[in-house]
Amino acid sequence: MGETQSELKSLASAINGMLDRINESYRSQVRFVSDASHELRTPISVIQGYVNLLDRWGKNDEKTLQESIDAIKDETENMKSLVEQLLFLARGDNNTMALQVERFELSALAEEVLRETQMIDGGHEYNSHAAPVFINADRSLVKQATRILIDNAMKYSPPGKRIIVSVSSADGYARLTVQDEGIGIKSEAVPRILDRFYRADESRAKATGGAGLGLSIAKWITERYGGHIEVLSRLDIGTRISIVFPTAPEGLS
Ligand code: ATP
Ligand code: MG
Repeated sequence: MGETQSELKSLASAINGMLDRINESYRSQVRFVSDASHELRTPISVIQGYVNLLDRWGKNDEKTLQESIDAIKDETENMKSLVEQLLFLARGDNNTMALQVERFELSALAEEVLRETQMIDGGHEYNSHAAPVFINADRSLVKQATRILIDNAMKYSPPGKRIIVSVSSADGYARLTVQDEGIGIKSEAVPRILDRFYRADESRAKATGGAGLGLSIAKWITERYGGHIEVLSRLDIGTRISIVFPTAPEGLS
């Protein structure tokens, strides 16, 4: 009897644990859908507002016409990137993403992203330090994760500030780091910035646009290849975020 009872007890606690997990994942799905809908509502309302404005007065007013066109262009662009981010995460959750794993050199990728960034951002000073290191992953996804980090460094640093991109390896891990001298993140917010839809300090973040999905996508990408993300930040001083992957020694791919 005694033994059966303890077996029943551990079975009951296993079932409880499982129900808790199902419950939590259900709740997080509901939250995801509701946050996503909320994010999409804003651009739709703005577009609607401008269309109404045009409909009523704007057709013959050159200035209103141009202002409306610009705003509608902006908002559709925001909506497009938001929908792309949502699709990425949905495919990741469903495991329906087509992935192409190859062995490639990380610092060459960092240099490539940096060159592309400098073409579009003349407002910051870029530096890089890179040591060659190979990893196994989908190259275009790692490129996307790198872009996400650089995009944040750009967005959250005042013009003229320095952004440093570096690649290094140690203890079997390759590390791609983006460091900025920007607004920084308050310490309470640091543990949450990888969460979906989380934005630290909404009032300051509002001016920069974005839904708070970038880092959650970068997190998915790094974890998919056995890696993780490291964040170090000080408010008003700057931020350093690294994506870390296991290295791929030669001959093992
Ligand atoms: P999105 O990337 O979806 O356009 P986002 O930039 O707000 O929007 P994340 O990239 O996930 O979303 O970043 C989450 C939050 O973390 C940001 O809103 C910002 O508050 C903070 N953050 C991220 N990177 C930096 C950085 N380099 N400097 C300061 N704050 C940062
Ligand atoms: Mg971002």
